[in-house]
Amino acid sequence: MTLMTGEQYRESIRKMKSTVYIGGEKIDDFLDHPVVIPAQNTASMTYEFAQDPECEHLMTAYSPYIDAKVNRFTHIYQNIDDMIMKVRMARFLGQKTATCFQRCTTLDTANALYIVTYQMDKALGTEYHKRFLTFLREMQENDYHLGVAMTDAKGDRSLRPTEQKDPDMWLHIVEEKSDGLVIRGAKTSQTGSANAHYTFVAPTAGLRKGEEEYAVACAVPGNAEGLYHIYGRNAGDDRKYAPDLMDMGNPRFSSQETLMVFDNVFVPWEKVFLCREVEFAGRIPFLFGANHRQTYGGCKAGVSDVLIGATRLVAEYTGIERLPHVRDKLAEMVALTETIYSCGLATALEGEQVETGSYYVNQLLGNVCKLNVAELPFKIARCAIDIAGGIVGDAPGGKDLMSPEIGKFVDKYLKGVEGVPTEYRLRMLYLIQSLLFGFNSVGYVVESLHGAGPPQAQKSSLYRLVDWDHKKKLAKDIAGIKD
Ligand code: SF4
Ligand code: FE
Repeated sequence: MTLMTGEQYRESIRKMKSTVYIGGEKIDDFLDHPVVIPAQNTASMTYEFAQDPECEHLMTAYSPYIDAKVNRFTHIYQNIDDMIMKVRMARFLGQKTATCFQRCTTLDTANALYIVTYQMDKALGTEYHKRFLTFLREMQENDYHLGVAMTDAKGDRSLRPTEQKDPDMWLHIVEEKSDGLVIRGAKTSQTGSANAHYTFVAPTAGLRKGEEEYAVACAVPGNAEGLYHIYGRNAGDDRKYAPDLMDMGNPRFSSQETLMVFDNVFVPWEKVFLCREVEFAGRIPFLFGANHRQTYGGCKAGVSDVLIGATRLVAEYTGIERLPHVRDKLAEMVALTETIYSCGLATALEGEQVETGSYYVNQLLGNVCKLNVAELPFKIARCAIDIAGGIVGDAPGGKDLMSPEIGKFVDKYLKGVEGVPTEYRLRMLYLIQSLLFGFNSVGYVVESLHGAGPPQAQKSSLYRLVDWDHKKKLAKDIAGIKD
């Protein structure tokens, strides 16, 4: 089934019975858990919008690998337009969910693995690309949602993987069998792992000779034996138990972040795409990084659009929207949002065809895009807090507004302009709270900083990608220096 409905997707995940822990307890029917429902709703939107004729152009693409229409989240870029459409799709979904919809890891990793496995087969005579193509077809035919497990636990950051006292601090191969591998370790901050059919496991960074057991890339089903999804706590978890109370701000949608533990997980050879080739290990996070960092130019612009709308409404509800400094801040929020979106689009436009025949984003610009995302949403958030006022951090809750004793006071004293119910103002304040303080998962600003790697990761990638000789020659030519 190349295009599942949201309901079919939910049922496919339900059937998997993956091992999910929330608050220290194993949750058997985790899709019905209040903390998971909004995260599952969000992931489902990537399926539901693909069924909507109005969004079809954004959400689907033609795959030459299976000669069929597929969800864009499983697509390998065939041209520049595919990379532009990814950013547009991400902005659209950010606008519709105001959170992370989790599935970009699927296409951002698949496009990187498509290239790295090809390069490995060419250089080493391996069969990784062939295996990857088989899995790609399976992924497209079944409309899989895949996470990507890259960020290792890492233990003492001053030590290399082999120097750690506990060898599991970086995920590694513990046994090689005739039919596959056994891996052990953990991956942190795993977006949408419990909502995914499979997870791409890949190294988190470049590796050196002697670190071969840490060089592994593969696809692992979400319900593999020995695989645990341990749900991360979020600021709004308690509010998720009472979504009708309005305090959640965004009651329907959230992201999902887990600690994924691989406790001796077996992976059959046909799902292994790199095994011990340290010289290629770093290429996967490097290529994935640029691609995923571009997507942030779309998703974070979409969430910013919601935050701008909420901020403008709060200003209107309190009668300050015409003040020059408020207009100035709202205009600034828009300009900053369009800046990150422009970076995402430029990363696509400057992309090119690569040796595989597929296309890839401009890696330098992808990193620049994410560097801007690591900074500008903080300015956007500052404007929102400034306009919303201090009450954005301490507004009374929905239960207070509905209380038979004190509800009348909350209603009376938190009212703004005539004609707008107090409830509307509170709903907007909670929405801004939920975005800024991460009720719905990691949150808009923390994710803007750390998602797809922290800013330092982008700067070091960028430093490697810059053609320094070209820039030096330009300067020498202008200054009249001839070597
Ligand atoms: Fe996609 Fe953005 Fe979520 Fe990353 S943070 S998975 S790019 S929605
Ligand atoms: Fe993310």
